[in-house]
Amino acid sequence: GELPLDELIASLTVDVPDYPEPGVLFRDLTPVFADGVAFRRMVEGLAAPAASDPRAAAVAGDGGVDGDPGFDVVVGVEARGFLLAAAVALASGVGVVPVRKAGKLPRERIAADYALEYGTATLELHADSVRPGARVLVVDDVLATGGTLGAAIALVERLGGVVTAVSVVVELAALGGRVRLAPHTVHALWTT
Ligand code: AMP
Repeated sequence: GELPLDELIASLTVDVPDYPEPGVLFRDLTPVFADGVAFRRMVEGLAAPAASDPRAAAVAGDGGVDGDPGFDVVVGVEARGFLLAAAVALASGVGVVPVRKAGKLPRERIAADYALEYGTATLELHADSVRPGARVLVVDDVLATGGTLGAAIALVERLGGVVTAVSVVVELAALGGRVRLAPHTVHALWTT
């Protein structure tokens, strides 16, 4: 039979010690993205939890329609989140919206600062990119401290979007991102 998805992801991920700085064990997912079977299963796995989330149907007010993915749009975080979000959106029949690093979006935007290990960074979202009440799936590759996803979620919610699911490929459990993002539940394809 086929390998469980978490084992497949783990087997293709390359750990890079001391990148981008000493003490960090960087999880390089590019070989997972480059594998056709793994990429398809990853994209399906990121979308799947949203369909069974009762809040998705409750917000839609339709009691759960067959074929409804559980979200109206996918938000992806620059840059590796873009690769995933676009594929999940296409597979689910919805659109994709980018959360970008500061200074990249050309029109009216909102911004959220978040803490990095050293200093802060800023993420931005076009002010008209999520309509109030829209059900949003937020996607990124790695959940570490949760600072990045926390900022992305805050931006979506400031526009009135309803974050019905948060999906990542890898959760680095020791860094506590899951706790930080509560009450949102993170769906991780591989927790390590
Ligand atoms: P976070 O600490 O959750 O805000 O993670 C920040 C961003 O850096 C995430 O979007 C991840 O893609 C990336 N990242 C953090 N730690 C790692 C790591 N150990 N390996 C690969 N990517 C990481």
